[in-house]
Amino acid sequence: MRAMVLEKSGGSLKLQQLEKPEPQKGQVRIKVTACSICRTDLHILDGELPSPNLPLIMGHQIVGTIDTDSDHFKKGDLIGVPWLGKSCGTCPYCRAGDENLCDTPSFTGYTINGGFAEYCIADEHFIFPIPKNYPAIQAAPLLCAGMIGYRSLKKVKGAKKIGFYGFGAAAHLLIQVALFQKQEVFAFTRKGDLKTQELAKKMGAKWAGDSDTLPPEELDAAILFAPVGDLVPTALKAVRKGGSVICAGIHMSDIPSFPYEILWGERVVRSVANLTRKDGEEFLALAPRIPIKTDVKTYPLEELNQALQDLREGKLTGSAVIVLSSE
Ligand SMILES: [Zn+2]
Ligand SMILES: [Zn+2]
Repeated sequence: MRAMVLEKSGGSLKLQQLEKPEPQKGQVRIKVTACSICRTDLHILDGELPSPNLPLIMGHQIVGTIDTDSDHFKKGDLIGVPWLGKSCGTCPYCRAGDENLCDTPSFTGYTINGGFAEYCIADEHFIFPIPKNYPAIQAAPLLCAGMIGYRSLKKVKGAKKIGFYGFGAAAHLLIQVALFQKQEVFAFTRKGDLKTQELAKKMGAKWAGDSDTLPPEELDAAILFAPVGDLVPTALKAVRKGGSVICAGIHMSDIPSFPYEILWGERVVRSVANLTRKDGEEFLALAPRIPIKTDVKTYPLEELNQALQDLREGKLTGSAVIVLSSE
Protein backbone atom coordinates (compact mmCIF):
# COMPACT_ATOMS: atom_id res chain seq x y z
CA MET A 1 0.00 0.00 0.00
CA ARG A 2 1.00 3.62 -0.44
CA ALA A 3 1.64 5.58 2.75
CA MET A 4 3.15 8.93 3.72
CA VAL A 5 5.68 8.23 6.44
CA LEU A 6 7.30 10.48 9.05
CA GLU A 7 10.85 9.19 9.57
CA LYS A 8 12.12 11.94 11.83
CA SER A 9 10.65 15.02 13.45
CA GLY A 10 11.25 18.26 11.62
CA GLY A 11 11.46 16.60 8.22
CA SER A 12 8.80 16.18 5.58
CA LEU A 13 6.74 13.07 4.96
CA LYS A 14 7.97 10.52 2.43
CA LEU A 15 5.79 8.47 0.12
CA GLN A 16 6.53 4.77 0.70
CA GLN A 17 5.26 1.43 -0.53
CA LEU A 18 4.49 -0.74 2.54
CA GLU A 19 2.89 -4.10 3.28
CA LYS A 20 -0.84 -4.00 4.01
CA PRO A 21 -1.14 -4.13 7.83
CA GLU A 22 -2.64 -7.28 9.41
CA PRO A 23 -5.13 -6.85 12.27
CA GLN A 24 -4.71 -8.65 15.60
CA LYS A 25 -7.61 -9.99 17.64
CA GLY A 26 -10.09 -7.20 18.44
CA GLN A 27 -8.81 -5.07 15.57
CA VAL A 28 -10.11 -4.39 12.09
CA ARG A 29 -8.38 -3.39 8.89
CA ILE A 30 -9.84 -0.32 7.25
CA LYS A 31 -9.56 0.71 3.63
CA VAL A 32 -9.09 4.45 4.04
CA THR A 33 -11.36 6.66 1.96
CA ALA A 34 -10.36 10.02 3.43
CA CYS A 35 -8.28 11.39 6.29
CA SER A 36 -8.47 14.99 7.45
CA ILE A 37 -5.48 16.98 8.67
CA CYS A 38 -5.40 18.40 12.21
CA ARG A 39 -3.11 20.98 13.79
CA THR A 40 -1.86 18.16 16.04
CA ASP A 41 -0.27 16.65 12.91
CA LEU A 42 1.85 19.80 12.62
CA HIS A 43 2.84 19.57 16.31
CA ILE A 44 3.94 15.94 15.78
CA LEU A 45 5.76 16.81 12.56
CA ASP A 46 7.60 19.67 14.27
CA GLY A 47 8.64 17.54 17.27
CA GLU A 48 6.54 19.58 19.70
CA LEU A 49 4.92 16.43 21.14
CA PRO A 50 7.14 13.88 22.91
CA SER A 51 8.02 10.41 21.59
CA PRO A 52 6.04 9.82 18.40
CA ASN A 53 6.29 6.18 17.35
CA LEU A 54 8.73 6.64 14.44
CA PRO A 55 8.67 5.73 11.62
CA LEU A 56 5.06 6.88 11.80
CA ILE A 57 2.00 7.19 9.60
CA MET A 58 0.15 10.21 11.01
CA GLY A 59 -3.53 11.04 10.50
CA HIS A 60 -6.30 10.66 13.10
CA GLN A 61 -9.48 11.84 11.39
CA ILE A 62 -9.98 8.73 9.31
CA VAL A 63 -13.04 7.63 7.39
CA GLY A 64 -12.97 4.34 5.54
CA THR A 65 -14.62 0.99 5.00
CA ILE A 66 -14.21 -2.16 7.07
CA ASP A 67 -11.94 -4.50 5.11
CA THR A 68 -11.81 -7.55 7.41
CA ASP A 69 -14.38 -9.63 9.27
CA SER A 70 -15.28 -8.26 12.68
CA ASP A 71 -17.60 -9.06 15.57
CA HIS A 72 -19.11 -5.59 15.55
CA PHE A 73 -19.02 -4.47 11.91
CA LYS A 74 -19.76 -5.81 8.46
CA LYS A 75 -17.26 -5.70 5.62
CA GLY A 76 -17.86 -2.47 3.69
CA ASP A 77 -19.36 -0.52 6.64
CA LEU A 78 -18.34 3.14 6.60
CA ILE A 79 -16.65 3.97 9.91
CA GLY A 80 -14.55 6.71 11.48
CA VAL A 81 -11.33 6.37 13.49
CA PRO A 82 -10.61 9.15 16.03
CA TRP A 83 -7.54 10.32 17.95
CA LEU A 84 -8.16 8.00 20.93
CA GLY A 85 -7.01 4.69 19.49
CA LYS A 86 -7.40 2.74 22.72
CA SER A 87 -7.59 3.19 26.47
CA CYS A 88 -6.58 0.59 29.05
CA GLY A 89 -9.97 0.24 30.76
CA THR A 90 -8.39 -0.48 34.14
CA CYS A 91 -6.53 2.63 35.35
CA PRO A 92 -8.30 4.97 37.83
CA TYR A 93 -9.18 7.41 35.03
CA CYS A 94 -10.70 4.77 32.78
CA ARG A 95 -12.65 3.30 35.69
CA ALA A 96 -14.03 6.76 36.50
CA GLY A 97 -15.24 7.25 32.91
CA ASP A 98 -12.41 9.64 32.04
CA GLU A 99 -10.75 7.46 29.42
CA ASN A 100 -9.50 10.62 27.70
CA LEU A 101 -7.05 10.86 30.61
CA CYS A 102 -6.01 7.17 30.54
CA ASP A 103 -2.54 6.45 31.97
CA THR A 104 -1.55 4.17 29.06
CA PRO A 105 -3.52 5.30 26.02
CA SER A 106 -2.85 4.72 22.33
CA PHE A 107 -3.30 7.67 20.03
CA THR A 108 -4.03 7.24 16.35
CA GLY A 109 -1.37 8.67 14.07
CA TYR A 110 0.96 9.34 17.02
CA THR A 111 1.68 6.27 19.17
CA ILE A 112 0.10 3.93 16.59
CA ASN A 113 -0.12 4.30 12.83
CA GLY A 114 -2.92 6.43 11.40
CA GLY A 115 -4.71 7.15 8.17
CA PHE A 116 -2.38 8.87 5.72
CA ALA A 117 -2.16 5.50 3.95
CA GLU A 118 -4.36 3.28 1.83
CA TYR A 119 -5.06 0.96 4.77
CA CYS A 120 -4.91 1.21 8.54
CA ILE A 121 -5.64 -0.91 11.61
CA ALA A 122 -7.91 0.12 14.46
CA ASP A 123 -9.38 -1.39 17.61
CA GLU A 124 -12.97 -2.24 16.78
CA HIS A 125 -14.18 -0.88 20.14
CA PHE A 126 -12.84 2.60 19.45
CA ILE A 127 -14.31 3.34 16.01
CA PHE A 128 -17.64 4.91 15.10
CA PRO A 129 -20.23 4.23 12.40
CA ILE A 130 -20.48 7.33 10.18
CA PRO A 131 -23.98 8.89 10.05
CA LYS A 132 -25.77 7.95 6.84
CA ASN A 133 -26.08 11.40 5.29
CA TYR A 134 -22.35 12.17 5.48
CA PRO A 135 -20.09 11.29 2.56
CA ALA A 136 -16.62 10.20 3.75
CA ILE A 137 -14.86 13.40 2.70
CA GLN A 138 -17.37 15.58 4.52
CA ALA A 139 -17.31 13.37 7.61
CA ALA A 140 -13.53 13.25 8.13
CA PRO A 141 -13.18 16.62 9.93
CA LEU A 142 -15.86 15.58 12.43
CA LEU A 143 -13.48 12.97 13.88
CA CYS A 144 -11.17 15.38 15.73
CA ALA A 145 -11.90 19.03 14.98
CA GLY A 146 -15.53 18.18 15.62
CA MET A 147 -15.30 15.71 18.50
CA ILE A 148 -12.64 17.42 20.61
CA GLY A 149 -14.20 20.80 19.79
CA TYR A 150 -17.49 19.38 21.05
CA ARG A 151 -15.82 18.28 24.28
CA SER A 152 -14.52 21.86 24.71
CA LEU A 153 -18.01 23.23 24.19
CA LYS A 154 -19.40 20.79 26.76
CA LYS A 155 -17.01 22.30 29.31
CA VAL A 156 -18.76 25.68 28.97
CA LYS A 157 -22.29 24.33 29.11
CA GLY A 158 -24.64 27.07 30.20
CA ALA A 159 -22.50 29.85 28.69
CA LYS A 160 -24.59 32.22 26.58
CA LYS A 161 -21.81 34.33 25.03
CA ILE A 162 -18.74 32.39 23.93
CA GLY A 163 -15.53 33.71 22.41
CA PHE A 164 -13.74 31.56 19.83
CA TYR A 165 -10.06 32.47 19.58
CA GLY A 166 -8.86 31.18 16.20
CA PHE A 167 -11.49 30.58 13.54
CA GLY A 168 -10.19 27.53 11.69
CA ALA A 169 -11.41 24.00 11.12
CA ALA A 170 -12.71 23.34 14.64
CA ALA A 171 -14.39 26.74 15.09
CA HIS A 172 -16.13 26.29 11.72
CA LEU A 173 -17.86 23.20 13.02
CA LEU A 174 -18.41 24.38 16.58
CA ILE A 175 -20.09 27.65 15.65
CA GLN A 176 -22.81 25.54 14.06
CA VAL A 177 -23.27 23.57 17.28
CA ALA A 178 -23.22 26.72 19.44
CA LEU A 179 -25.85 28.47 17.30
CA PHE A 180 -27.99 25.34 17.35
CA GLN A 181 -27.78 25.46 21.16
CA LYS A 182 -28.85 29.15 21.05
CA GLN A 183 -25.45 30.41 22.18
CA GLU A 184 -23.80 33.54 20.78
CA VAL A 185 -20.35 33.36 19.23
CA PHE A 186 -17.74 36.11 19.23
CA ALA A 187 -14.96 35.26 16.76
CA PHE A 188 -11.37 36.40 17.25
CA THR A 189 -8.82 36.07 14.45
CA ARG A 190 -5.22 36.98 13.73
CA LYS A 191 -4.82 40.75 13.64
CA GLY A 192 -6.20 42.23 10.43
CA ASP A 193 -7.58 38.96 9.04
CA LEU A 194 -10.71 40.66 7.76
CA LYS A 195 -11.49 37.83 5.36
CA THR A 196 -11.87 35.31 8.21
CA GLN A 197 -13.76 37.83 10.31
CA GLU A 198 -16.24 38.33 7.44
CA LEU A 199 -16.58 34.57 7.08
CA ALA A 200 -17.25 34.18 10.81
CA LYS A 201 -20.00 36.79 10.64
CA LYS A 202 -21.46 35.11 7.57
CA MET A 203 -21.58 31.89 9.54
CA GLY A 204 -23.55 33.60 12.30
CA ALA A 205 -20.98 35.07 14.69
CA LYS A 206 -22.50 38.00 16.57
CA TRP A 207 -19.21 39.87 16.39
CA ALA A 208 -15.79 39.28 14.86
CA GLY A 209 -12.53 41.12 15.42
CA ASP A 210 -8.79 40.99 16.08
CA SER A 211 -7.69 38.71 18.91
CA ASP A 212 -6.01 41.54 20.80
CA THR A 213 -9.19 43.60 21.04
CA LEU A 214 -11.89 43.27 23.68
CA PRO A 215 -15.33 42.16 22.52
CA PRO A 216 -18.21 44.66 22.78
CA GLU A 217 -19.84 42.57 25.52
CA GLU A 218 -18.46 40.60 28.44
CA LEU A 219 -18.19 36.89 27.60
CA ASP A 220 -19.34 33.96 29.72
CA ALA A 221 -16.57 31.76 28.33
CA ALA A 222 -13.82 31.57 25.74
CA ILE A 223 -12.41 28.61 23.82
CA LEU A 224 -8.85 28.91 22.52
CA PHE A 225 -8.42 26.94 19.31
CA ALA A 226 -5.26 28.82 18.32
CA PRO A 227 -2.11 27.34 19.95
CA VAL A 228 -1.01 30.74 21.21
CA GLY A 229 -0.27 31.10 24.94
CA ASP A 230 -0.47 34.92 24.73
CA LEU A 231 -4.20 34.51 24.20
CA VAL A 232 -4.79 33.09 27.70
CA PRO A 233 -4.49 36.43 29.56
CA THR A 234 -6.21 38.17 26.62
CA ALA A 235 -9.19 35.85 26.90
CA LEU A 236 -9.26 36.09 30.71
CA LYS A 237 -9.74 39.84 30.35
CA ALA A 238 -12.70 39.21 28.05
CA VAL A 239 -14.64 36.82 30.34
CA ARG A 240 -16.86 37.76 33.24
CA LYS A 241 -16.49 36.69 36.88
CA GLY A 242 -16.90 32.93 37.16
CA GLY A 243 -16.23 32.53 33.44
CA SER A 244 -13.97 29.90 31.87
CA VAL A 245 -11.13 29.99 29.38
CA ILE A 246 -10.77 26.61 27.70
CA CYS A 247 -7.53 25.68 25.93
CA ALA A 248 -8.63 23.18 23.28
CA GLY A 249 -5.30 22.29 21.68
CA ILE A 250 -2.78 19.60 22.59
CA HIS A 251 0.13 22.03 22.44
CA MET A 252 0.43 25.74 23.05
CA SER A 253 3.25 28.27 23.13
CA ASP A 254 4.19 29.40 26.66
CA ILE A 255 1.59 31.36 28.58
CA PRO A 256 3.05 34.71 29.71
CA SER A 257 2.73 35.72 33.36
CA PHE A 258 -0.28 37.86 34.10
CA PRO A 259 -1.70 39.84 37.05
CA TYR A 260 -3.74 37.77 39.48
CA GLU A 261 -6.62 40.25 39.23
CA ILE A 262 -7.62 38.96 35.78
CA LEU A 263 -8.02 35.43 37.21
CA TRP A 264 -9.62 36.67 40.42
CA GLY A 265 -13.41 36.47 40.59
CA GLU A 266 -13.38 32.67 40.25
CA ARG A 267 -12.41 32.73 36.62
CA VAL A 268 -11.11 29.36 35.43
CA VAL A 269 -8.39 28.37 32.96
CA ARG A 270 -8.47 24.73 31.91
CA SER A 271 -7.29 22.49 29.13
CA VAL A 272 -9.30 19.90 27.26
CA ALA A 273 -7.41 16.70 26.59
CA ASN A 274 -8.33 14.12 23.95
CA LEU A 275 -11.83 12.65 23.84
CA THR A 276 -13.89 9.83 25.25
CA ARG A 277 -15.96 7.47 23.14
CA LYS A 278 -19.02 9.06 24.71
CA ASP A 279 -17.99 12.47 23.31
CA GLY A 280 -17.67 10.90 19.88
CA GLU A 281 -21.01 9.11 20.03
CA GLU A 282 -22.85 12.18 21.26
CA PHE A 283 -21.28 14.39 18.63
CA LEU A 284 -21.99 12.04 15.72
CA ALA A 285 -25.61 11.77 16.89
CA LEU A 286 -25.88 15.56 17.05
CA ALA A 287 -24.10 16.41 13.77
CA PRO A 288 -26.86 15.25 11.37
CA ARG A 289 -29.58 16.90 13.46
CA ILE A 290 -28.07 20.38 13.03
CA PRO A 291 -26.92 19.39 10.33
CA ILE A 292 -23.25 20.37 10.58
CA LYS A 293 -21.73 21.25 7.22
CA THR A 294 -18.00 20.87 6.74
CA ASP A 295 -15.95 23.05 4.44
CA VAL A 296 -13.20 20.89 2.96
CA LYS A 297 -10.31 21.27 0.56
CA THR A 298 -9.16 17.94 -0.85
CA TYR A 299 -5.64 16.80 -1.73
CA PRO A 300 -4.28 13.49 -3.05
CA LEU A 301 -1.97 11.53 -0.70
CA GLU A 302 1.15 12.66 -2.57
CA GLU A 303 0.33 16.29 -1.77
CA LEU A 304 0.09 15.81 2.01
CA ASN A 305 3.23 17.90 2.63
CA GLN A 306 1.68 20.75 0.66
CA ALA A 307 -1.60 20.41 2.59
CA LEU A 308 0.28 20.60 5.91
CA GLN A 309 2.11 23.68 4.67
CA ASP A 310 -1.18 25.31 3.67
CA LEU A 311 -2.53 24.68 7.19
CA ARG A 312 0.65 26.10 8.73
CA GLU A 313 0.41 29.26 6.64
CA GLY A 314 -3.25 29.79 7.47
CA LYS A 315 -4.30 29.38 3.84
CA LEU A 316 -7.25 27.10 4.56
CA THR A 317 -10.71 28.34 5.43
CA GLY A 318 -12.03 24.95 6.59
CA SER A 319 -10.39 21.53 6.79
CA ALA A 320 -7.83 19.89 4.53
CA VAL A 321 -8.80 16.32 3.64
CA ILE A 322 -6.52 13.74 2.03
CA VAL A 323 -8.51 11.55 -0.35
CA LEU A 324 -7.27 7.97 -0.62
CA SER A 325 -9.95 6.20 -2.62
CA SER A 326 -13.38 6.88 -4.05
CA GLU A 327 -16.33 5.59 -2.04
ZN1 LIG B 1 -6.69 16.28 16.02
ZN1 LIG C 1 -6.74 3.77 31.37
